[in-house]
Amino acid sequence: MKICVYCASSPKVDAMYFTAAESLAAAFADAGVSVVYGGGATGLMGRLADTMLARGGSIKGIMPRFMNEVEWAHRGLADIEFTETMHERKAKFLEGIDAVVALPGGTGTLEELLEAMTLKRLGLFTKPIVIVNTRGFYDPLRTMLERCIDEAFMHPKHRGLWTFVATPDEVLPAVRAAQPWGPDAITFARNG
Ligand code: AMP
Repeated sequence: MKICVYCASSPKVDAMYFTAAESLAAAFADAGVSVVYGGGATGLMGRLADTMLARGGSIKGIMPRFMNEVEWAHRGLADIEFTETMHERKAKFLEGIDAVVALPGGTGTLEELLEAMTLKRLGLFTKPIVIVNTRGFYDPLRTMLERCIDEAFMHPKHRGLWTFVATPDEVLPAVRAAQPWGPDAITFARNG
């Protein structure tokens, strides 16, 4: 299995978030899951990569060239691909993967996560999207998404776009249990 992980670049976040990144990487490395991520060395990205590498796991970074030029790339990665643009990078994250997982993060993580959900809503991406809600970090997003459904901006079926889990240990079971999704999502993408 190959899973794309979106997560924070900030090194200043609470230790609890670093522990969650470490636990997720440990669960993936132990289960033989390959990871694709943003290629960064700092924050939760750095901890994810360091843990995968320390446990002999497989991890690939995908980063726009300009970020490498300012030395943001993780130097320990054996596999890193450089893209010309942010858009190209985001498209490559989703190629050939079996699921998307989001740990807490800032605008970068949020836009990557919301783009994956949008593509899934349109039936252009069909894999499970699992959101790790460490310390309730994603509660406001969950409330926003529920409001989108309550106010008919989205269809109740769109709850199948995502799964929230409380801890990294629940990620792989959630990926396996996710509601099947197909290109026919285009038929209810607009909610009538
Ligand atoms: P954020 O969740 O806002 O920290 O965003 C994570 C995303 O921000 C990554 O996928 C990158 O697009 C970008 N990014 C911001 N700062 C860095 C950094 N120091 N190293 C690598 N990527 C970064």
